[in-house]
Amino acid sequence: MIARRVRGAMALLGAASVLLAGCGPGGRASAADPTATATTVSTAVPTTAPSSSGAVSTVSTTTVSTTTSSTTSAASAATPPPSAPDQGDVPGPEGTGRCAVDTRYTDEPATGLLPEVAAAWAAVLAEAAQVGVDVCLADGKRSRAQQQQIRDEYVRDYGEAMAEQYTLPPERSAHVTGTAVDVQPRAASNWLEGSAGRLGFCRTYDNEPWHFEFDATFAVTGCPARLPSPNG
Ligand SMILES: [Zn+2]
Repeated sequence: MIARRVRGAMALLGAASVLLAGCGPGGRASAADPTATATTVSTAVPTTAPSSSGAVSTVSTTTVSTTTSSTTSAASAATPPPSAPDQGDVPGPEGTGRCAVDTRYTDEPATGLLPEVAAAWAAVLAEAAQVGVDVCLADGKRSRAQQQQIRDEYVRDYGEAMAEQYTLPPERSAHVTGTAVDVQPRAASNWLEGSAGRLGFCRTYDNEPWHFEFDATFAVTGCPARLPSPNG
């Protein structure tokens, strides 16, 4: 998993290079580290972005998350039936592909994203192909365990304060609910940001140009104001 940690370091370079000096994650080779992905540093359901409500309300009753939508912003989310499985325990892919145009990043399948989100992501890829933009899904769905491990690693590697700027606990993560995607390389995230929500995805944080969250209403309302970071 060295390569994945190196990518993690690269992902941070833009915003936190000073903290990488001498203590970047690229130097450690954890044998079993399923969640140390490149751009998976951020996840959140910001209070201004009702990212879970739109998706939850339209997906099938077999995939709706309940326990992961316990943020303050999820108050309007539909309540799935008791029989619905817990989306938060569904793991995401583990570095199953390499981003062809920038090998620092992975390009994983949309497995585990809520059906509506996966469909919208497919539309993103189709439109990107039409206009000649190479888009990689550096990270999408995470289980609670995967999210927790990412957060723990950031706390360990960069300290609590830094972790607060780039990670969220599982119960607040849009990656856990299957409604967030991390987009690389930068040309791709810039292009998607330029769509201004038309495709259902909006960049949500100032400090994470790669992190987008889905809500069907974005196509109508445009993107909400960004938060400075996952933790405001
Ligand atoms: Zn993210």
